[in-house]
Amino acid sequence: MKLHRTHCPQGHEYTPANTYLWHGSKVCRACRRERAAVDNLARRSWRKVPGLSKLVAALRREGL
Ligand SMILES: [Zn+2]
Repeated sequence: MKLHRTHCPQGHEYTPANTYLWHGSKVCRACRRERAAVDNLARRSWRKVPGLSKLVAALRREGL
């Protein structure tokens, strides 16, 4: 694990505006926003779209 990362695993830059500390570790706001969007989409439509819950699970495994 690198101590001084400049980008998150998804390639977003760790700028002060895009980063906050949570339990002592850096959290990327862009990733958090994307994750929240995926969660919202899943909550709204998982009943309507067969397989979406599997897709969301796959995205989570990829770190989104
Ligand atoms: Zn990110």
